[in-house]
Amino acid sequence: MVPKTAEVVIIGGGVMGASTAYHLALRGQKNILLLEKDEFFGQEATGRCAGGVRYQFSTEVNVRLSLQSLPMLDRFKDEIGQDINLRKCGYLFVLTTPEDVKTFRHSLEMQQSLGVHTQWLTPDEIHKRLPLMRFEDALAGSFNRDDGLVDPNSVVMGYIGASQRLGVRCLNKVEVTGIKAASGKIIAVETNQGTISAPVIVDAAGPWAGVIGRMAGVTVPIEPYRRQIMTTTPIPEVPADFPFVLDFAQSLYFHREGDGILTGMSNNNEKAGFDQNVDEAFEMVNLEASIARMPCLEKVGLLSHWAGLYEVTPDAHPIYGKTSVEGFFIVAGFSGHGFMHGPISGKLMAECILDGKFQSLDVSFLDLARFAEGRQIREYNVV
Ligand SMILES: Cc1cc2nc3c(=O)[nH]c(=O)nc-3n(C[C@H](O)[C@H](O)[C@H](O)COP(=O)(O)OP(=O)(O)OC[C@H]3O[C@@H](n4cnc5c(N)ncnc54)[C@H](O)[C@@H]3O)c2cc1C
Repeated sequence: MVPKTAEVVIIGGGVMGASTAYHLALRGQKNILLLEKDEFFGQEATGRCAGGVRYQFSTEVNVRLSLQSLPMLDRFKDEIGQDINLRKCGYLFVLTTPEDVKTFRHSLEMQQSLGVHTQWLTPDEIHKRLPLMRFEDALAGSFNRDDGLVDPNSVVMGYIGASQRLGVRCLNKVEVTGIKAASGKIIAVETNQGTISAPVIVDAAGPWAGVIGRMAGVTVPIEPYRRQIMTTTPIPEVPADFPFVLDFAQSLYFHREGDGILTGMSNNNEKAGFDQNVDEAFEMVNLEASIARMPCLEKVGLLSHWAGLYEVTPDAHPIYGKTSVEGFFIVAGFSGHGFMHGPISGKLMAECILDGKFQSLDVSFLDLARFAEGRQIREYNVV
């Protein structure tokens, strides 16, 4: 049974909802309720993601989010008590078009000016670092050794457990079906298990954030796009320090997963929608492109494959903060790279709700109103 009242209801038990719950409770907020429609927490975008964490972005705000969020992942085990299998393998963006070279060169200068140690690689240096791969067309590479991989489920369950220890009620199999507002203010959340009166609601529903927005009468421009991944059986020749490699022009990526390789590729022809079945025809496209880059993949078997949903905004940046309905807050729309920004985003939302402003980093310009007011800023490094 759901309780009849709460001070704050968070909708969504992915990394955003879990981190927001934890950071609100850490700041002393009482009577927080986190609702998740699925049987388990973190099984949607967060649990299906590639687990990559990086400093390499094209906009200053994304680099600044990483500068706060990634050190929180470094400290996660000590602070939260949960091992998250952090591996600093580095991210290597391989660039094969003059336009990408120009944009990444510019981004590298911006990253370095903020204290991020991204390095520029020549084609020879790329070939030396990636002897198992074929990148004859590489023009340059952008590499950061501090980027890497983290286990998404461990992060979510770490935050859920820590939230519960601080008194948060985290409920699964509770689906939000409606939101009641009166005189422009939130008054209650309706669920498949009853109505909960609450003055504050946080929409942390990831790919479903637009659906939740509509329930509150707020237009949230977030669309779900299917993205898929496959993993292979062991490949003994892949070294332990194999980096997260991105063939940027093809939106094709590889990293070590267990003793094999994980590969994914974005389908530019994908239409917005909630379908999470694997598109086998596109999987073949991914497989052929992967084998062309990494010929040893031809000899291995498919271990697993799955699809998940990116939560895409028109400018590929997230939406943070208040809306036109008092008490209705949003933290969503990370456009395919939000897992890594989960820690700082929960902290920022706690500040926004409790202090009325973002304290750790000014993300006030990433508000919902920017779309109506034409204040979008575009992120280039979306995979
Ligand atoms: C294939 C793939 C690869 C990715 N790779 C990376 C990567 O390498 N690095 C990275 O940083 N990011 C990556 N991402 C993006 C990342 O997964 C997301 O940005 C991030 O996980 C979003 O977290 P979230 O909490 O907003 O959404 P979610 O994890 O989807 O959580 C939202 C939750 O809300 C719940 N919900 C929805 N509607 C309701 C309702 N009505 N009632 C109750 N609950 C509801 C859902 O069930 C869900 O659990 C990837 C995504 C995909 C799909």
